[in-house]
Amino acid sequence: MSPALIDIGANLAHHSFDGDRDAVISRAMAAGVATIIVTGADRVSNEAALALALTHPGQLFATAGLHPHHADAWSVALGERIAELAKASQVVAIGECGLDYFRDLTPRAQQQLAFRAQLELAITAGKPVFLHQREAHADFLAILREYRTALAACVVHCFTDTTAALDDYLALDCHIGITGWICDERRGMHLVDAVKCIPADRLLLETDAPYLLPRNLKPAPKHRRNEPAFLPWVLQRVAQARGEDASALAAQTSANAERFFGIRANQTQ
Ligand SMILES: [Zn+2]
Repeated sequence: MSPALIDIGANLAHHSFDGDRDAVISRAMAAGVATIIVTGADRVSNEAALALALTHPGQLFATAGLHPHHADAWSVALGERIAELAKASQVVAIGECGLDYFRDLTPRAQQQLAFRAQLELAITAGKPVFLHQREAHADFLAILREYRTALAACVVHCFTDTTAALDDYLALDCHIGITGWICDERRGMHLVDAVKCIPADRLLLETDAPYLLPRNLKPAPKHRRNEPAFLPWVLQRVAQARGEDASALAAQTSANAERFFGIRANQTQ
C-alpha cells in the first residue's frame, strides 16, 4: 500500500456531493487519500468547508476565500468573515483566490481588487494562500510579486500554464498543484514536460473535484464527476511523467502538503 495521499484541493461543498458526501469521503479514505483540504470558493462554500472540517477532525481541513469567478461578490463584510474563519485552526489557507481571464465571469478590475484584498488578508492571518490563475499570468504575476515577500507559503493550484509561467512561479518560491489535467491527452500533454521541472519539495497533488475527472481512470465511470478517491490516478500520471516511483512520490507530496499547510496527515491504514 502506498503512503497516504493528501488531496490539497477538493470542492466537497459542491452541490454535486449533497447526496453522498459521506460515501465520497469514505471512498477517499479507502483509496488511501487520508487527508483532504476542502476548497472554500465563496460565502456559502467557505462556511460549508469549515463545517465539514469540524465534523471530520484530522481527515478534512478547509480553505476560505473568494474565487475570481465570484469576485463581484467581494465586500468588506465578506473579507471580515474570511478573516474570522481563518482564525480556526482547521482553516489552513486563504483562497481560492486569483485571476481567471479564461471565463472572464467578472470584470477584471473587480477580480484584481478581490485578489489583492485576499492577499492582504492572508498576510494578516499569517496563513498560506491557495491561488487560481487561468489565462491571466502577466497580471497575476505582477500582483503576486508585490505581496510575495510578506506572504507565507503560496500554491498555484491546478497549474495548467506554460513552462515559462512555471519558472516565474518557482522563482517566487511558490508551490505547484497538479490536477488530473495532466491525465488529459487532448490538452494536458505540455504538463508532462512541465512537471519534470518542479522541484520535488514544491509539488502538490489535487483532484479539484468535482471537476477534472482524470481521463486515464480505468474503468472509465459513466458519470463525469470527479472525487478525491481518484487522486491515485493523478499520482500515477505525475510519477510516470517524472520517471519516479509512485509510492516515493506519494510520500514526498504528502510530506510537502503537511509542511505547506502545517498539518499532520491522517493515517488510513
Ligand atoms: Zn481553481
